[in-house]
Amino acid sequence: MSYPELLINREKLAHNVRAMIKMGENAGIRIHFVTKCLQAWRPLVEVMHEAGAEYFADSRVENLKQIGDLGLSHMMVRIPMMSNASDVVRYADLSLNSDMTVIEALSDAARSIDREHGVILMVEMGDLREGFMPDEILETASRVLNLRGVWLAGIGANFNCYGGVIPEEHQLKALADMADMIRQRFNIPLPIVSGGNTGSLYLLSEGRMPEGITHLRIGEGFLIGIETSFRKRIPDLFTDVFTLRAEIVELKRKPSVPTGLIGPNSFNEIPVFEDYGQIWRAILAIGEQDTRCGTLQPADSNIRFLGSSSDHMILDVTHAVRDLKVGDILEFSPDYAALLRASTSPYVHKRLV
Ligand SMILES: *Cc1c(COP(=O)(O)O)cnc(C)c1O
Repeated sequence: MSYPELLINREKLAHNVRAMIKMGENAGIRIHFVTKCLQAWRPLVEVMHEAGAEYFADSRVENLKQIGDLGLSHMMVRIPMMSNASDVVRYADLSLNSDMTVIEALSDAARSIDREHGVILMVEMGDLREGFMPDEILETASRVLNLRGVWLAGIGANFNCYGGVIPEEHQLKALADMADMIRQRFNIPLPIVSGGNTGSLYLLSEGRMPEGITHLRIGEGFLIGIETSFRKRIPDLFTDVFTLRAEIVELKRKPSVPTGLIGPNSFNEIPVFEDYGQIWRAILAIGEQDTRCGTLQPADSNIRFLGSSSDHMILDVTHAVRDLKVGDILEFSPDYAALLRASTSPYVHKRLV
């Protein structure tokens, strides 16, 4: 075994995928499972595929390329780079878009390999990340319909990201109405009305998803089991699919407050300390290169986070439940940010169990 390691519980992951598909189906919603948080790691995507997932999405073409043979659809969720148009149309059948020149580049790239690429037009609904302004949509749709390498697959919106805007019924209803307007104006099916990410799941579980929303893009929800608008558990989902494990390399009784003149720490922040007297301090061989240490939740809730640098994490283990020694392995539950960094760090070993 090598540490740090990220354990992935196969059964719990498969359960979450199945539960999520069902939750969508009950409301007439298709889900693209977003794999970017785990770099579309193949063994994990294989488990998801076996559990019934057929639609995958990622923010990186490199990731989509690895799973091209798994599932029926592959969506690019980051606005494609113009410089990358030919890879996008090669490895994704759908992409989210907010720029006409990029869409034209996708159309040219698709024509050159004899394909038709599906375009979803993102609409700005308040969160202020990607999207056309609502009053540009009809004109943009009309221009897309004139291109020969792409087809207009749908419209969508993003929430809970830059602005932290929570999707509510009124925005999603407005999105669905906009889709109807486009269908009527151009007499096209426009199958995808993509109502957001994990932050929209609360509407689904409360039976409040507006009619006309046909699609969601879900990453964090099925991985962590918590919706991101109100941080509530998603009914029936496991919240402990992932466990991060790291090894103790030093364990000593030392003071809780440093001595000397205090300047910036390794991340150029001036640290502040509370005096707990003498404590048992454990140093773990894991750091900011491996994960986001401060948001890891220790399996033993008596263990307290003290600080971290590139390669070390320091914990107060004075009140730890079991007797610890150098060489012991401690377990943590990662949140999305910690999981993202752990799974993209070359130093963290992923293991399906
Ligand atoms: C990452 C991403 C998602 C998935 O978000 P989660 O909060 O993980 O469900 C959906 N849409 C876009 C555009 C994304 O970039």
